[in-house]
Formats: sequence, structure tokens, C-alpha cells
Amino acid sequence: MAPKRTTVRDLRRHNRSTLLSKLFFDGPLSRHELSRLTGLSAATVSNVTGELVEDRLIIEAGLVESDGGRPRVLLRVDPQYGHVIGIDVGETGVKVELFDLAMNRLAAADHPIRTPKPDPGEVAEQIVSGVNQVLRSSGVEERTVLGIGVGVPGTVEQSEPVVVHAQTIGWEGVALEQLLRAGGITLPLFFDNGAKTLGQAEMWFGAGRGARHAVIALIGSGVGAAVIADGTTYRGSTSSAGEWGHTTIVYDGRTCRCGSHGCLEAYIGAEGILDRYRRTRGGRDLPGTDEQSQLDALVAAAVRSKTAAKVLEETAGYLGAGIANLINLFNPERIVLGGWAGLAIGGRLLPMVRQVAQAHALRHPYGVTSIELCQLGPDAVAVGAATLPVAALLDEGADPRENTAAA
Ligand SMILES: [Zn+2]
Repeated sequence: MAPKRTTVRDLRRHNRSTLLSKLFFDGPLSRHELSRLTGLSAATVSNVTGELVEDRLIIEAGLVESDGGRPRVLLRVDPQYGHVIGIDVGETGVKVELFDLAMNRLAAADHPIRTPKPDPGEVAEQIVSGVNQVLRSSGVEERTVLGIGVGVPGTVEQSEPVVVHAQTIGWEGVALEQLLRAGGITLPLFFDNGAKTLGQAEMWFGAGRGARHAVIALIGSGVGAAVIADGTTYRGSTSSAGEWGHTTIVYDGRTCRCGSHGCLEAYIGAEGILDRYRRTRGGRDLPGTDEQSQLDALVAAAVRSKTAAKVLEETAGYLGAGIANLINLFNPERIVLGGWAGLAIGGRLLPMVRQVAQAHALRHPYGVTSIELCQLGPDAVAVGAATLPVAALLDEGADPRENTAAA
């Protein structure tokens, strides 16, 4: 077998990526600490950080005392180096958010979607107008934006150009990248499934930090998951892995939006929960104009209404059983429940969900798992989408706008 040739260029890129990532996640750090934490020699750290300073990617951030010696200079990623935009194409609206490189949110724009099967062209228009809106309201110049990350429902086929398959909202092979280019977007674009971007946000900054094996579950109108195996998102052969919401929880059960029957989503997605409640009340609707306010009304009603309490109890049952399946399949250290509906029901139902999961999972893998709520709130899909261009920057150790120049 021919050994894999590592070129000088590969090595340089690897070292830049290693040091930049370390500073992004754990900075500020001194060169001495960088060398100790990465195993790179003092000379390499000194050379590469010198380059990164010259490229303005990192800056000095004060001094730290060292034992006996001269004080050491601290380094960090320069939050002003550039900006990133994260977009959440959710089932209730399009959220566009602009961040600096320290992931401080500088501006946000929200466009509601009022139909369960939105037209891709209209969604693309909303994205384009949202991008212009956040640039305008923050006063950030477009030339400082490193890239735009877009989180969408369904499967993202990472082809040229990117294509989205989102059966539940009626998108079959939608060329979203082309639509955005036609709408005038010239910045680098990155796409991923919304649950996977939420997963990345929670792994980087939230409840997943420090775990190597985790599942981040997103419960909104629909249900998805990001499976993190050995530190990276498990994608499968065409990137659709993690469609936990469409695993069967009841054979021949309720009709799901995907067209199948008995999917987990049809029971624990907000739409499924509200529909189950409506049916117990002879079709009478809950107060509220949208799913979010109706689900809040249901959770509030459970204090006095036996019917509402029973529907929530059953929801905890389906959710706990679904989580037990995740535990048995993936042996994660941590399961993180997120999404707006996950947070709305999770606070109240978590103890019961844990009980059911324990009853259905194998004892050993259950014993090494914790089940927690996400920490970044219901907006984490947009934050996660914004991490996609940042991940490209950290992986390459260079600006994603200069892909060719960096090679
Ligand atoms: Zn389904």
C-alpha cells in the first residue's frame, strides 16, 4: 500500500487550523500554552502564530504572568477580523442573524412563513431581503462577511450546486443555492440541515461541550436530530442521517407529514402534539394564533385540565421511548433536547422522559448517558448556521473567501 504523502502545504494548513481552532474555542492563550495544549513545537507555534497575526486573524490580548520569567503575551482570534451570517429556514419563518467572529449577535431579521408548504422562490427572496436588512441595520460592510450559513429542514445534498430534499414541506430537489445566487448573493454559501446546525451550535457553545458522542434532538413543528460520533456529525451516504423524527414509534400509527404512518414526529412534533390534543376535545382548537402560542397554552392548561395533562404525559412517553432508541443505537454520553417545542415541553416533562427512557433502554448504555435541555435557547439553529463559515475558516486555517489563494 502506498503511504499517504503529506505535503509541506498540508502540514502548514494543518498547523494553522490546529492553532486557530484552539484559540477560537479556548483563547486567549499564550504561545507557551498553545505549544503545551497542541503538542506543536515552540518554534512552529511561533512561526504559525506570526503568520496568523500578519494575516490579522489573531491579535494580542494582554499579558499573563509566568513563573519567574517575563510576562507572556496572550493571543486570541480577532472578533473584528470578519463577520458571519446564519440563517434558519424554519417551518414558521426565516431568521437571519449577523455575528462577529466572537459570535456576538449584531443584528437579526425575522420573516414569518404562513404556509406549511412554502414556495422555494419566496423563501429565497426572504433570505436575500433578510441578509440586506441585517447588513443595513448593523452598518456592517458586505466585504467583511466571510460567508453565509443556511440551516434548512430536510436533507441537504452537498452537490454542485447544493440541492435540498425536504419532503415534509413539499421541497423535492430544490436548488436553493442557485435561487440565492439568482437573487444576487455573491458571498460564500454553506448549507446544512437545521438539526445538524443546532447540533453544531450546542456542541461548540452549549450543552454538548466536551462530549465526543452525543445526540442533539431538535423538536419544533417537526423533529430531527444531529448524531455526533467521535466529535463529528454522522451523515450517512447522502447526508440524511439523523432523521430521527421519521423513525417508526407506532406500527401503522398516525399519518405523518412525510406520508408514512406512525413516525415519531407525528406524536412529539408540535403539530402532532396539538393535533392529538385537538382530537381528544372533539376538534376544538386551543387559544393562540400559531403553534408556538397554542403549545404554550396546552402546557399551561395541564395544571388544571386532566385531558391536557394526559396528552403531555403521553408525549413524554413517546419522547422517552424515542430517546431510548437513540441510546441503544448510538451509545451517546449525552442527549440534548432543543428546538422551541423541545424547550416548551422539556422543562416540565424531563423527569418523566428520563424515567421512560430508562425503562426502555438497555441498562448499561442508559447508565452512561445524561439527558439534558439545550442551553442556547430556541434560536440556536441560526447560531449553528453561522458556525458553518466559521468551521470552514477553522478547518482551512484561512479565510473561506480565499479558498483558492489558501491552497
Ligand atoms: Zn414521517
